[in-house]
Amino acid sequence: MNQALQAVLENSGNIVFFGGAGVSTESGIPDFRSADGLYHQKYRYEPETIISHHFFMQNPGAFYDFYRDRMICPSARPNAAHRALARLEAGGRLKAVITQNIDGLHQMAGSRNVLELHGSIHRNHCMDCHRAYSLQDILKEQGVPRCSCGGVIKPDVVLYEEPLDADVLERAVFYIEQADVLIVGGTSLVVYPAAGLLRYYRGNKLVLINQSPTPADHQASLLIREPIGKAFEGMDEPE
Ligand code: NAD
Ligand code: ZN
Repeated sequence: MNQALQAVLENSGNIVFFGGAGVSTESGIPDFRSADGLYHQKYRYEPETIISHHFFMQNPGAFYDFYRDRMICPSARPNAAHRALARLEAGGRLKAVITQNIDGLHQMAGSRNVLELHGSIHRNHCMDCHRAYSLQDILKEQGVPRCSCGGVIKPDVVLYEEPLDADVLERAVFYIEQADVLIVGGTSLVVYPAAGLLRYYRGNKLVLINQSPTPADHQASLLIREPIGKAFEGMDEPE
């Protein structure tokens, strides 16, 4: 457990968390930009290309090969960071979890007010008739999943070239503006517009937990350079 982190959190009644792929690496889901992350693995196309809107439309088969293989991890379970955040929310001190992740692990840990900037693998819809499908529906099919109407099913995940949901963004800005303590964790802070959310924070208790340097390190009042699950260890269980 990180003592400095615990001290900051104990003294705040309005904590907001803003995280990225690094929050889930200790749950076994690779991030994009670490040395062993997705961007450094060999595929015929760059991951950035594969998970773009135009690639999905032109080549849904290759998209789903990568997506099933690399982006869906049905056996992943929440780690200490997810659990500690859920506990802080249940205790009334954490107001929102804002995430760039699409894995649903915050909700699995018990978090309720989760703002998913990039959508979720757990929601899917038919591109023709808009019928909704679960992750299980996608998993039980092979190749490109199809609706009963014949249409292609698309995950409700924000692909490159696609805009973020305006309502989710607006709510994220609202919580960050109100925050006393803002914890930013497991994000390289290079993917926009999500990374730009930081500028809405008006407080003076910015906690940054990331294994590698980020463009916002100099703004942090507490900089923690250790695995985020480790930093939250012990805060995820009843005393
Ligand atoms: P990123 O891959 O760009 O950066 C992750 C950052 O987390 C890196 O700076 C890395 O040093 C750090 N990190 C890795 N493991 C850590 C740990 N255990 N503790 C602390 N820090 C750790 O991720 P991002 O900034 O979230 O960027 C972007 C995109 O990746 C998003 O669009 C997101 O949708 C997508 N993505 C999501 C998932 C997921 O849902 N789990 C996984 C991979 C990518
Ligand atoms: Zn349909």
